[in-house]
Amino acid sequence: MARVHPEIYFFGAGVAEGRSEMRNILGGKGANLAEMATLKLPVPPGFTISTAVCNYFYENKGKYPKGLVEGVKKSIARIEKALGRKFGDDTNPLLVSVRSGARVSMPGMMDTVLNLGLTDDTVRGLETVSGSARFAWDSYRRFCQMYGDVVLKLKPENKNDRDPFEELIEKKKEALGVSEDVDLGVDDLRELVSEFRELIKRRVGRDIPQDPNEQLWEAIGAVFGSWNNDRAVTYRKINNIPGDWGTAVTVQSMVFGNLGPDCATGVAFTRNPSTGERGIYGEFLPNAQGEDVVAGVRTPLQISLAAGKEWAKRNGINEKDRAARYPTLEESFAKVFKELLQIASRLEKHFHDMQDMEFTIERERLFMLQTRNGKRTAEAAIRAAVEMADEKLIDRRTALMRVEPVQLEQLVHPRLDPKSPKEVIARGLPASPGAVCGEVVFSADEAVEAHSATRPVILVRIETSPEDIHGMQVAEGILTARGGMTSHAAVVARGMGKCCVAGCGSLEIDYEQGLFKAGGHIVKRGDSITLDGSSGEVILGRVPTVEPEMSDHFRKFMKWADQERRLGVRANADTPGDAHVAIEFGAEGIGLCRTEHMFFAPERIDAVREMILAETPEQRAAALAKIAPMQRGDFVGILREMAGKPVTIRLLDPPLHEFLPKDDDEIRKLASIIGTDPDRLRHVRDSLEEFNPMLGHRGSRLGISYPEIYKMQARAILEAAQELRAEGVNAMPEIMLPLIGERKEYEFLANEIREVAKAVNDGHRARLRYHTGTMIEVPRACIEAGEIAEVADFFSFGTNDLTQMTYGLSRDDSSRFLDDYVKRGIYQKDPFQELDPEGVGGLMKIAIERGRKANKNISMGICGEHGGDPASVKLCHKLGLDYVSCSPFRLPIARLAAAQAAIEDLKAKTKGKREFKDV
Ligand code: PEP
Ligand code: MG
Repeated sequence: MARVHPEIYFFGAGVAEGRSEMRNILGGKGANLAEMATLKLPVPPGFTISTAVCNYFYENKGKYPKGLVEGVKKSIARIEKALGRKFGDDTNPLLVSVRSGARVSMPGMMDTVLNLGLTDDTVRGLETVSGSARFAWDSYRRFCQMYGDVVLKLKPENKNDRDPFEELIEKKKEALGVSEDVDLGVDDLRELVSEFRELIKRRVGRDIPQDPNEQLWEAIGAVFGSWNNDRAVTYRKINNIPGDWGTAVTVQSMVFGNLGPDCATGVAFTRNPSTGERGIYGEFLPNAQGEDVVAGVRTPLQISLAAGKEWAKRNGINEKDRAARYPTLEESFAKVFKELLQIASRLEKHFHDMQDMEFTIERERLFMLQTRNGKRTAEAAIRAAVEMADEKLIDRRTALMRVEPVQLEQLVHPRLDPKSPKEVIARGLPASPGAVCGEVVFSADEAVEAHSATRPVILVRIETSPEDIHGMQVAEGILTARGGMTSHAAVVARGMGKCCVAGCGSLEIDYEQGLFKAGGHIVKRGDSITLDGSSGEVILGRVPTVEPEMSDHFRKFMKWADQERRLGVRANADTPGDAHVAIEFGAEGIGLCRTEHMFFAPERIDAVREMILAETPEQRAAALAKIAPMQRGDFVGILREMAGKPVTIRLLDPPLHEFLPKDDDEIRKLASIIGTDPDRLRHVRDSLEEFNPMLGHRGSRLGISYPEIYKMQARAILEAAQELRAEGVNAMPEIMLPLIGERKEYEFLANEIREVAKAVNDGHRARLRYHTGTMIEVPRACIEAGEIAEVADFFSFGTNDLTQMTYGLSRDDSSRFLDDYVKRGIYQKDPFQELDPEGVGGLMKIAIERGRKANKNISMGICGEHGGDPASVKLCHKLGLDYVSCSPFRLPIARLAAAQAAIEDLKAKTKGKREFKDV
């Protein structure tokens, strides 16, 4: 059959005009519905209006392209023909859903209208064909509610008010003395429909249209309009989704999971989205419509028997009770269960990825409403990727590309210390892993407020909705009283990598009083609780946490990553303890050891201050002599931990005033310790203050003014190395000079270090092995890199300072206004988080080229914060650096990002010759 319009794609009845590759045009939902229809899976017929129409809609103030109205009419006629029903008919009416669908899934962010096509006339037709007046009027009631909310925008009058429609339902139930929606009879539902419409007329000034076509166009407009609602805009910002992608709109014939006990609706994954374990996993509700599952109002049942048994065990329900009260789909819909298994396996094989499917059972008949690649926790992503590669469903490189590097952060999150006592006051679903403590807050706004005061919070809600997204973003963890593993809270938290306990039914939350009751306790706003997102436990107070252990799947996955990457990975670590963790996470060396952190240790800060306040070189030497043995001890510890691996130790960097006391009390105390006058001390402190300390007397400039400080540090490093070598430990120190911008400056200091090395070497047979190099963090150093490289062994890009100085933006204060730049699209990203590829990256490119040309043996890395940011790691790969260095916990991210950069390179090189295959 010919296409009815270039922007409309029909699917169903075994044919489809779209394909799964067309997600940019059809959105993920439309594209995959088309694909499922092509695979001849049971998909209710429908059509998708392309994302191009969304952009047209915005560019032309709500207008549609030529011929679209006619095309939609013809498409409806095609559905009518396929089903033998008629849109607007009062004997056998066709009802449709109108859904959004962007090219990447944005769960719950945009709008949907179900049961569209119901009017005072067609509801009678629905009564006849369904054989149930109650069902027909319940559907009409739901439609009026959704239409009122989504299309006519009838919202609560005040922010904390309940949904006005839900309020009317509650009132009705109260008047009737019943507690469940199912207790409402036909007449009650009829009355509710009238009450809803009265409310709409009163508040909006007009009724719900009685012409289905009018309904359809208003709903299509509302769904396109929802692309730019506040929560969708926030979600896009958090997930870096461009605003010009637009959403598609899918209009699809309705099937009903709420016609009676032989109907159901549910969500199923082909693998467990929390753990990655293979096998169907999901939830369903008998006699329910799709939104009931997602809304999380009723606690859903498990799909497979195995999961049902596990669920019962977790909830302390015995097997007999479970089978009677909570039967699984496998038990109550055995035939459909088998069919679902077959479809799940087919879809996974077809898409080569774990699928997340929505289905409806209408009178024992299975219909597939959606399939998409399932969102998963990091643990699940890794396990599924490794096992899919082992099953030969995908190859190893594809497996590596399947995990977002930042997701790995979830795996390095702490767990509860198993040895610590804990008072569990409630138990919910383990919706997203990790263990967190925080103060209880009850709204998203409160969460944001507390977060800006740097207080960690746990957001406690009866259930979350997409309106809560900004609070979820800043909370440590999320706890909800209602909702299953596929509820909004669970899905969003998992995507964010946040700890979440959902569906904790025993919580009695009272927003008004700002408290919840659980397990005989009252927990008030501001009280501390702990959540364990892996067991679902809610614990009173704060419980200590311990660092995570790496799973076998994780180790295997990281090994594959290491086999692919070309970039080396090092850690920024200042203590032997950090160095130990760094090795656990795969560090191949230390790329930055900041020595100033050692100076701040309480037992040595006074000696450091004495050194700063010294009036003569002798006094300074005496103070330095106190610090030297401690520094040597630090370096012995780190170099020993990193035996056989390079350790880059940076000599003192911050301006000296940072070490001096600020308040008068402390000044008096220090004056008495070192036997000087407090006024003099105050004077020295004031004289050291600088207007712009970041551009002041810091870095190598300190070494030029006070050579004895750097000499002491160099000696401590080299003596530590000497001591270890005598023990047979292979210490590999690299002495790094900060803030160099001129060759002569570097030569002066490198020469001093050489002198120290000679002295340390005297009398020893084995020659010391060490390197001297510089940070490249001043723009001038990039330009002069050729000159500097002739005399340096290594460069390490300090991109924190280099970004600061390239942009002329203070790294300490600019966050106050940088957000305005990002919001207005002037900067794509905060340049302190993600390396600026053009400006800062451009300077790095010059430095690398000039440096390598002058010294082909020079080693080059990066040690600014960008070393742990995936996009920046990929840029470093492209620039040809030798390694990246980042905090130990971000090492897995850097390793994976480096592997992905290498794979992307390979893909680009083999493009057109030999494409990578998924299988
Ligand atoms: C840098 O500037 O990038 C750097 C690593 O040094 P610091 O952050 O200590 O200034
Ligand atoms: Mg720096």
